Amino acid sequence: MKKRIGIVGGGQLGRMLTLAAKPLGFQVIVLDPTPQSPAGQVADEQIVASFTDEAAIRQLAEDSDFLTFEIELANADILDELAKNGLSVNPSAETLNIIKDKLKQKEFLDKASVPVAKFQAVETVKDIEQFAQEFGYPLLLKARSDAYDGRGNALVESAAGIQAALTKLANRILYVEEFVDFDKELAVMVARNTQGDIVTYPVVETIHQHNICHTVLAPAPVKPAISHQAKVLARQVMEHLQGAGVFGIEMFLTKDGEVIINEIAPRVHNSGHHTIESCKTSQFEQHIRAVTNLPLGSTRMVVPAAVMVNILGDRQGEAKLEGLDQALQIPNTTVHVYGKIETMPERKMGHITAIGENLQDTLQRANQARALINI
Ligand code: AMP
Repeated sequence: MKKRIGIVGGGQLGRMLTLAAKPLGFQVIVLDPTPQSPAGQVADEQIVASFTDEAAIRQLAEDSDFLTFEIELANADILDELAKNGLSVNPSAETLNIIKDKLKQKEFLDKASVPVAKFQAVETVKDIEQFAQEFGYPLLLKARSDAYDGRGNALVESAAGIQAALTKLANRILYVEEFVDFDKELAVMVARNTQGDIVTYPVVETIHQHNICHTVLAPAPVKPAISHQAKVLARQVMEHLQGAGVFGIEMFLTKDGEVIINEIAPRVHNSGHHTIESCKTSQFEQHIRAVTNLPLGSTRMVVPAAVMVNILGDRQGEAKLEGLDQALQIPNTTVHVYGKIETMPERKMGHITAIGENLQDTLQRANQARALINI
């Protein structure tokens, strides 16, 4: 009998997970509130319901042999109960609970002696002022949860900017964080299977604009000692977290040459999309292997360089796809379109991965292809 995988969340990550699960013979059911979601379009079945809909998650669990998720918003309490009743749920609900609250996540990392930026819980304006007195401006106010792609962050440059930041993040529970004057942002994808084996992917550099990932360079153009340090930290984080699956560990390389952790994603991640073309086992296949008791695959790069560029929306309205003919004429360049019906500014609509002999030429081709696509 074919085994069934249930995925909570039907966005692009669920879509690419599904596309990796099918060749291994799995059936896939996704749960997402949007009918015809990106993953729903390629899965065997979609349950149309909210990520936190208890009855719908139970239905998904009933229909699945393995349950996993592509979003941190999943209802961790029900997942925990399902796991206690014997269903294979990965990563664990405990891990999800730690990670989805950014303050809890920072406290967890700090306790595990993993280096992070200075941070503190915030209840009143006084807390922010006190933090600034100790660590100075600029600082970042961050929403503790539901904060995707930097949407819950506000930069505070001086005491005069506190009110504006609080207005921007009104009605959210906040914490404050030291502003890191970083040289580069790095990320490491890591996987652990149900037997406890851990593998790490090559370290990448991620380039953000307006808090959103735009470009990923693989491997990161950093000294071997830095990339070694990044991998050591990623493993250290994994050793403290429960559950199987692929995790994205985002880091800062400070101007002093220190590597510190920014945050953990308990799932496949934008910084690992390049692995579809550039590594022996993609992050998506790896996650499927990890959560279904299969052996992990090699994370080795099969090309010297890869560059991923996101295709972000630039207007509001129905999505179209123009320029594919021209973009596909660029050699060693792959276009991924997520099938979202609606586009909006900065929405992740697709991505492009170029592979090549060196980062410089590969980046140029990825950008060239991106400029030709209109979505
Ligand atoms: P986050 O969603 O919190 O990871 O933030 C998104 C982006 O904002 C990061 O990738 C960084 O570019 C920037 N950022 C977040 N936290 C900090 C920080 N403490 N110092 C400087 N930049 C930051």
